[in-house]
Amino acid sequence: MAQKTYFDPGELVAVQTTQPLDRALDYKAPEGGCHLGAFVEVPLGPRKVLGVVWGAGQGDYDYAKVRPVIRVLDAPPLRDEMKLFLEKSAAYTLTPLSAMLRLATRAPGLGDPPSMRKVYRRGTGAPDRVTKARTQVLETLAEYGDLSFTLKELAEMAGVTASVIKGLVKQGVVFEEDSPRDLPFARLDPDLPGKVLTADQAAGAAALGAGVASGDYGTTLLRGVTGSGKTEVYLEAVAAAMRQGRQALVLLPEIALTAEFLTRVEARFGAKPAEWHSGATMTERRRIWRMVGEGQAQLVIGARSALFLPFQNLGLIVVDEEHDTSYKQEDGVLYHARDMAVLRASICGAHVVLASATPSLESWSNAQAGKYARLDLVSRFGPAVMPQMGAIDMRGEGLPSDRWVSPALKKEVDARLANGEQAMLFINRRGYAPITLCRACGHQIGCDHCDARMVEHRFLKRLICHQCGESKPMPEACPSCEAVGKMAPVGPGVERLGEEAAALWPDARIATLSSDMYGTARALKAEIAGIAQGSADIIIGTQLVAKGHNFPNLTLVGVIDADLGLTGSDLRAAERTFQLMRQVAGRAGRADKPGTALLQTYQPDHPVIRSILAGDEEAFWQAEAAERSQAGMPPYGRLAGIILSGPDVAAVFDAGNQLARNDRVLRDAGAQVYGPAPAPIARVRGRHRVRLLVKADKNVALQRALAQWVGQLRLKGDLRLAIDIDPQSFY
Ligand code: ADP
Ligand code: ZN
Repeated sequence: MAQKTYFDPGELVAVQTTQPLDRALDYKAPEGGCHLGAFVEVPLGPRKVLGVVWGAGQGDYDYAKVRPVIRVLDAPPLRDEMKLFLEKSAAYTLTPLSAMLRLATRAPGLGDPPSMRKVYRRGTGAPDRVTKARTQVLETLAEYGDLSFTLKELAEMAGVTASVIKGLVKQGVVFEEDSPRDLPFARLDPDLPGKVLTADQAAGAAALGAGVASGDYGTTLLRGVTGSGKTEVYLEAVAAAMRQGRQALVLLPEIALTAEFLTRVEARFGAKPAEWHSGATMTERRRIWRMVGEGQAQLVIGARSALFLPFQNLGLIVVDEEHDTSYKQEDGVLYHARDMAVLRASICGAHVVLASATPSLESWSNAQAGKYARLDLVSRFGPAVMPQMGAIDMRGEGLPSDRWVSPALKKEVDARLANGEQAMLFINRRGYAPITLCRACGHQIGCDHCDARMVEHRFLKRLICHQCGESKPMPEACPSCEAVGKMAPVGPGVERLGEEAAALWPDARIATLSSDMYGTARALKAEIAGIAQGSADIIIGTQLVAKGHNFPNLTLVGVIDADLGLTGSDLRAAERTFQLMRQVAGRAGRADKPGTALLQTYQPDHPVIRSILAGDEEAFWQAEAAERSQAGMPPYGRLAGIILSGPDVAAVFDAGNQLARNDRVLRDAGAQVYGPAPAPIARVRGRHRVRLLVKADKNVALQRALAQWVGQLRLKGDLRLAIDIDPQSFY
């Protein structure tokens, strides 16, 4: 029987809310009836909550006691394919549907009518009296240029009360205006002339365009070295989707969402696309959410959560830098945006493009197996060539223990400076020093709430826990033996490397780039843009410089500690090191000057270091694939992590042991349990953490078995259980 799509007044409907309940609840359809998928407001206890009409009511309550829907919101109903996507992604990640629906409704005031409201922007002149609060308002507005905000947003962003802003309005320093709530996005024109593509690129663009035009689901891995023109090629796929009248979504790692990128898209299509990211204001979020749902936004450029926007007619999803670890959400709903993109596209008949210079082994092997198509762009665009790779064998460099730049690397940097070129020193560690040690008793400063060391951040003048964010001032005396003036930094972080560079090259302009050193993402992006223009000679950076930035005058990258990633027990240690080193190296020599990448290493013969140096990527993937497949590890086998946590260590272990003992359902399904074991970070925010790992063959129906298995456990007290399907990190 076909599903009912309209409910008469008083008919029972099942409403799925965003509240943490394990089922949809019955309500009576309101006066005027309601459609399947309608966004509604319903009473829940004393509150009014947001929900979606998910289907016909179950009818297992006394009809007389069932309450009516309060009102149907003025928003396009949730489409069937979106419902299916939420259901399937909930089932895959073993997440309650309510939590999935919350991801899909992350815009405030969804149901508000399209009316006018007051917005605030920079006016003229200066205030009669300058106060700290007033300055904060003006600085906030200056930072965002021409944008306007609601009173609440502006007050929040500036950290002031509404009355401060109202005071500035009276003086005309801030303007108050009426603005329609949601404006459609400007039309993008796919037929503006794009760049003239190389033969390689044109063939790729044609293949992707044909995939999109087919109107069927398909995934293509677009592999090409940094600078080969992957972006140019997938923008043609975006154009193809637009010509079909379908919407396109381009996902980027948050930090790669730069002004430079948006300018490029604007240049190609003649107007700005919608931009969805964590820094977007509530007003902007709401506008995008609505316009995407009404088909009034052709293209969204967004961070991973953009995947849950209510597209009306999605024809293409691009996942750029598809191997990037930030696509896996590591708290709340544990989903992988790349995998969910494929799921969503397969439901709505869209094409997926996974773009990367160094694909994940998952995508590589899916392409090998023929599940994904694969396109390769083999050369960099124009005269740019891949950098020369070399190792510096640190065993022969005789560095003192508090220095990290080898004489060999120094010489190379000197040569670049003499040529007026830029050099980059890369270290993947934030802060000043990873360890703070008492020279008198050997005590290391740890976090009070976590099983982790506090990391000194000299720039912020604090010790910071990288697990929970807790911070404290550097103590004068050792917290253990009370000796004064004995606390000393051990090991390098990006700030300390910056200090060393300043001593080595006193005349050079040095820029240290670390996400925590800039108040806002915008300030950081501005700094990066300045560097690209030549505002620095030496760039000292962490992982964030590895992502998609273009420094045309950069000709040398020195990796301070190429061994850093190799030591972890992580399943993906080799893969991550390989990707990171290749990406960092790819920063050098983007324009017309050839680049060099030098890796400082104590293990020049390590197989991973050797394959990085040889640049033989296919050989690396083959070897890595053989090893994983031998061990039955992902992507050739399946893993799920179970994390139990609670304030009482014994209770957490009890629960873990109980699960491990009652593993019958798992064994029957063909899966094995390992653990419980203390998690590598055994305490976070005062909660003890225990992990179990479930491993299975690829063909095992793992989710069903897992659900039954953990369903046996009654979670007592403050105990929490999280399931991480396809875990990416094992902390
Ligand atoms: P990738 O995404 O693979 O790193 P990009 O698409 O960013 O590569 O291309 C690298 C640089 O080369 C960009 O500045 C881009 O504008 C330029 N470029 C690539 N292909 C062309 C082309 N066919 N014509 C002109 N410029 C191009
Ligand atoms: Zn902590």
